[in-house]
Amino acid sequence: MIVKMRRTATDNEIAAVETMLQDRGYTTGKLVGTDHTLIGVYGDVSQLSQPDVQKMSGVEGLIAISRKYKRAAQKGDPTNRLYVDFNIGSVRIGRDLVVVAGPCSVESERQIMESAEMVKDAGAQILRGGVHKYRSSPYSGWEGIGAGSDDALREGLESIVKAGRAFDMPVAVEILDHAAIPLYEDVGVDCLQIGEPNSRNTVLLNALRNSDLPVIHKRGNAVDCEDYLLWVERMMTCGKENIVLCERGIGSANKYTRNTLDLGTVAAFHYQLTGLPVAVDASHGCGIRDLVHPLTVASVFAGASVLLLEAHPNPLIAKSDGFQALFPEQLANLVQAAQQAHKLRQDVEHLYVPSRVLESDYESRVETDRERLFAE
Ligand code: PEP
Ligand code: MN
Repeated sequence: MIVKMRRTATDNEIAAVETMLQDRGYTTGKLVGTDHTLIGVYGDVSQLSQPDVQKMSGVEGLIAISRKYKRAAQKGDPTNRLYVDFNIGSVRIGRDLVVVAGPCSVESERQIMESAEMVKDAGAQILRGGVHKYRSSPYSGWEGIGAGSDDALREGLESIVKAGRAFDMPVAVEILDHAAIPLYEDVGVDCLQIGEPNSRNTVLLNALRNSDLPVIHKRGNAVDCEDYLLWVERMMTCGKENIVLCERGIGSANKYTRNTLDLGTVAAFHYQLTGLPVAVDASHGCGIRDLVHPLTVASVFAGASVLLLEAHPNPLIAKSDGFQALFPEQLANLVQAAQQAHKLRQDVEHLYVPSRVLESDYESRVETDRERLFAE
């Protein structure tokens, strides 16, 4: 259950509701939105007297939640959906469109510095780059500049952080091992990415509960969208909220594209299931450079507010995933197209009518309509 506080509720009123619930044995979690504060109530709420809560000062109403992923679930109702927003470094996530771009992997100091310049010039806001890479073959010969040792990992992380700082951009870097979280924090990485292979890594997700760093959590390519939200929920159980969902393609019957970008799920996340910001990574979603542009633009209309894009100063010599990396000119054009698409989506958003708004009217007409339409 969620307690929705009034827009005008004071800090004392909010604290009083939390204390009352905790005194009765419930765990609470607070979500401070732009307009309203919401208090999640965890435990057997069938034992809770709802009028006792309802009559407390500052309480606007109670919202029943039946989803298993209570913290990740969409709050509010279909006509008033509530979304979380938070920062990655200085960049606000969950409102305006944010583009996270860069090479698949950090390959040298010079390469990541030039990549940062490319990303900045293109108009993207956050620099990405992997330092220790997952490779499906042990013979690929390249596992990232930081793969060899702890020192190499630190140096690789330092070089992307330095490149980000040089162009005034936060950096997002994939983390493979929970033991490395303090190192990433210490070096100044601004956002941790959980890659597809770690989407269901219990140890890593549990450890991330205790990190203040925002996380981009990629959906596993064989994970149902609501099961995935339960994995996301795992990080949220102690109150963490700064998580970006990420659709990056799932397995399917299709062989032409590397994965199948599941835009239906992107829409379901944004319009129905969760209040967390949704990212789409069309680069891994299709694995074909020339399809990244149209799929990314489509993602914006499906509900994405964060875009992950692989790009390289010269993709033809990239050490990993060069085939799906954009040329710098393509990145710049795509950032522009995506921003225009996002503006258009906002302009037409008021035309989206959730069925809930219309249902009761149509329900009251069922009998008369049945008679009119079928009585012959
Ligand atoms: C990546 O972002 O470079 C990456 C390897 O992605 P994924 O984990 O989605 O395959
Ligand atoms: Mn990649």
